[in-house]
Amino acid sequence: MTTSGVSRHTRSVLAGVKRDAATGAISFPIYPSSTYAHPAVGESTGFDYTRSGNPTRQVLEEALADLEGGSRGLAFSSGMAALTTLFLHFSAGDHLVVSEDLYGGTYRVLDQIFGKFALSVSYVDTTDSSKVAAACTPHTKALLIETPGNPLLGIADLPALASLCQERGLLLCVDNTFLTPALQRPLEHGADVVIHSATKYLGGHNDLCAGVLVARNSDLGERLYFLQNSTGAILSPQDCWLLMRSLKTLGLRMERHCDNAQAVAEWLLAHPAVEQVYYPGLPSHPGHQRNIAQSDGHGGMVSFRLGNADHAKQVLQKLRRISFAESLGGVESLMTLPAVQTHADIPVEQRKRLGVCESLLRLSVGIESVEDIISDLDQALARG
Ligand SMILES: *Cc1c(COP(=O)(O)O)cnc(C)c1O
Repeated sequence: MTTSGVSRHTRSVLAGVKRDAATGAISFPIYPSSTYAHPAVGESTGFDYTRSGNPTRQVLEEALADLEGGSRGLAFSSGMAALTTLFLHFSAGDHLVVSEDLYGGTYRVLDQIFGKFALSVSYVDTTDSSKVAAACTPHTKALLIETPGNPLLGIADLPALASLCQERGLLLCVDNTFLTPALQRPLEHGADVVIHSATKYLGGHNDLCAGVLVARNSDLGERLYFLQNSTGAILSPQDCWLLMRSLKTLGLRMERHCDNAQAVAEWLLAHPAVEQVYYPGLPSHPGHQRNIAQSDGHGGMVSFRLGNADHAKQVLQKLRRISFAESLGGVESLMTLPAVQTHADIPVEQRKRLGVCESLLRLSVGIESVEDIISDLDQALARG
C-alpha cells in the first residue's frame, strides 16, 4: 500500500498494514526466527540472521524513519543502547558538547565509560547557542542536545544550533524522547541523528524497554547500522511488534498529554505552595515562543519546585492515583524526585548549580481525566 501524501499521524496508524503480502495481515506478524534458509549459494531472501536483520524489526524501523523524516531507522534494546551505539561512532581524542540539563544515564555512560576511551565532553547550557559555540574546540565532533531539557525543560534553538553545526562540520544529535516526532522533528531543522528512549512516549504504556536512532542521511545510517550489527544491541521481534502497535496511537496520546500537562502546569502555577513551575507551554517559560516556532506542542512533562525537601517528600508519600516512580511518557501519570532518582549520577555541585535539588519534583502527566490528576495533586500538596 502506498501511504505517501497522507499525514504523519495516518502513516503511524498504518505502520505495517498490508506489508505481509502472503496473508494480508493488518497487524504485521512477529518473526521470532533467528535464522533464514538461503535459496542457493550466494543468494538471500533479504534476511540471513536476526541480529543483522529481522522482518518485524525492518517494518518498525521503516516506520520510525518515516515518522522522523529520516532515511534510516534502527531499533535498539533500550535508549541507552541506542546512545551507546551512537557514541561508538566517535574515536579516542574526539570531543563532544552536550546539554547540561540532560538524562542522568547519558551523563553516566559518557563520564564513567566513554571517558575511559578518551572521549571528552563539555556540558553546557544548550538553550544559549553562544555558550555552545564557545565550548567548541578543534577536536569537537558533535553536539548532543535534549530539547526540552531534563528535568528543567529548557528549550534549545534547533535551527540556530543546526547552522552552527553545519558551519563547523559537527554532527547534531538530538534526543527527541520528550516530544516525539508527533510534536517535533529535529531532522527537518537540520539535525543529523535523532535518539529516542522508546521506553517513554513511543512505547507509551510503561511496559516496554526500547531505543531508537534515526539518521537523516543514508551514509550515517549505514555507519550506525554497522555499529549496531557489530555490537548487537537489537530490539527483540516481540518488542518490535509491541512498539509498532504503540506507534499507532502516538498522535492521539501526545495530544492528550499536551492538553493535560498544560492544565496541570497552569493549576500548579496558581498553587500557593508551588514556588516555580517549569513547562514550555506557560507564557512565562523563557523558551515558550521558541518552542512554538520549532515544534507542534509542549509535551507532557512538567517540573515544579516546592519550598523545601520535606514537603516534596511528603507529596510523594501522599499521592494516590499518580505513582511515585521513575520513567515517563506512559499513559499513567508518574512523579519522580530527579535529584535522588533519574539524576543521581550527576555530581551534586552540578545538580545544585542547575537547581536540581530535593525540592524539585518532575511529573510525567498521563492521559487520565485531567480533573483526577489535579485532585490527586491537590490532596497531596495539602499540608498536614
Ligand atoms: C530514559 C531516557 C533515556 C534512556 O533510555 P532507556 O530506554 O531507559 O535506556 C535517554 N534519554 C532520555 C531523555 C530519557 O528520558
